[in-house]
Amino acid sequence: MDQVLELVSPHTEELLAEVPVSTPEQIDSAVATARAAVDSGPWPLLDPTERIAVIRRFLDAYQARGGEVAELITAEIGAPISFAKRAQVGLPTAMIGAFCATAQAYPWHETRPGFFGSDIHIRREPVGVVAAIVPWNMPQFLTIAKVVPALLAGCAVIVKPSPETSLDATLLVEMLNEAGLPPGVLSVLPGGVSVGERLVGHPGVDKVSFTGSTAAGKAVAAACATNLTKVSLELGGKSAAIVLDDAAPAAVAAGVRSASLSNSGQICNALTRILVPAARQQEFVDALAAELDGITLGDPTDPGTQMGPLVSRRQQQRVLDYIRIGQAEGARLVTGGDGLPDGIDRGYYVRPTLFADADNSMRIAREEIFGPVLTVIGYRDAADAVAIANDSDYGLAGSVWTADTTRGLGVAAQIKTGTFGVNQGYTMDPFAPFGGVKGSGYGRELGREGLEGYLDTKSIAVTSGV
Ligand code: NAD
Repeated sequence: MDQVLELVSPHTEELLAEVPVSTPEQIDSAVATARAAVDSGPWPLLDPTERIAVIRRFLDAYQARGGEVAELITAEIGAPISFAKRAQVGLPTAMIGAFCATAQAYPWHETRPGFFGSDIHIRREPVGVVAAIVPWNMPQFLTIAKVVPALLAGCAVIVKPSPETSLDATLLVEMLNEAGLPPGVLSVLPGGVSVGERLVGHPGVDKVSFTGSTAAGKAVAAACATNLTKVSLELGGKSAAIVLDDAAPAAVAAGVRSASLSNSGQICNALTRILVPAARQQEFVDALAAELDGITLGDPTDPGTQMGPLVSRRQQQRVLDYIRIGQAEGARLVTGGDGLPDGIDRGYYVRPTLFADADNSMRIAREEIFGPVLTVIGYRDAADAVAIANDSDYGLAGSVWTADTTRGLGVAAQIKTGTFGVNQGYTMDPFAPFGGVKGSGYGRELGREGLEGYLDTKSIAVTSGV
């Protein structure tokens, strides 16, 4: 096992930092401490308003240090600083307040008249020790989407970040602890797959909240089955944008660009299959190509940069391999297709890439690439478009683009996904549940459902007067 994680700048390829990998003893100790915090600590027994007060204190600190967090993410993964501020930090900041509002309004206790005459008291209680396993692409968003609802529910949480984003995860955990969490309630274990494996297989963990690839999600689900550990899985996607014949090409292209190519296309709900009327394919291809060619690629610390590098050399190679695969499969390369932009001689860049005349059976249409690559597929009629959209191993997101909202909602009802957008990529609203179906996993984050993912329900039947 590696003893040290080497964090490398995706822009300069220079060493950013070295982070010690958590040892098996540290993992066991983190679980034991978290166990003690939920089994005998004050945190799970506090009134929810007291837990909300701690999270609100954390929110103040988070707002004050947001710029610092954004700069760290830009350094770690190469997200352009403008995107890092707006989405990597701005979005989670908004979510923290929304989670507090959800917890404030939540019916923690409820009484119902039972069928057999007893009064039934229903209590929502914390599930216990949570292992939060997170990928690198939206590190603060994804970590906060797990940790804050779990803490509000009264759980103890152990965060296992991706190696690439160990620094911002450690800072986040520090800030939360400084806001007044009791000792042992929250900890972070930097490390790679082996640290994650030991944690998810640990008998002291009550719930695993996993976000990552579908392949890793299957291994995590299998490990959780051994101990019957609860698990939620937020996995990959290959979402479709269904462009109906009444949609305007320029508006569609601008919408698809922002929904699919932010963060260099390294977003789980990116719309990567663009389904357009076959007879008008070229119109949409031209509009999309103009959008892609207009993206300013380069140094992620420059406020004018719109797209930075990919996270790592491995990710760059993976994306370039898929581009070669697409060409070999016979899809038409319209723009992009290679790495370094003009004027840049290093870094893990890939230019925004567009394929047209593709078929849904091609690997570039079936497999998650996780980079700035879009694939245009022609359809015959709306029924054919729905069939193509649903012909996928994944079911995370999707969208329809049309001048007629009613028609759009009709299409939305036919698509097998956990989330969907009409004339937008799905915006992750913190009041709405987010998650997938099929190979995109199960369980929901965000919204009331996201809080309930960290709660067990206890029913107490009461007979009075004995
Ligand atoms: P990954 O699956 O390689 O790793 C994700 C995390 O899991 C990392 O922290 C990793 O160390 C850990 N891990 C990997 N194998 C493990 C195992 N067997 N046991 C325990 N932990 C393990 O994914 P990645 O490359 O870091 O992230 C990209 C993937 O994440 C893409 O597939 C993307 O779609 C997905 N993702 C999904 C969502 C969502 O909400 N559905 C959001 C963001 C990213």
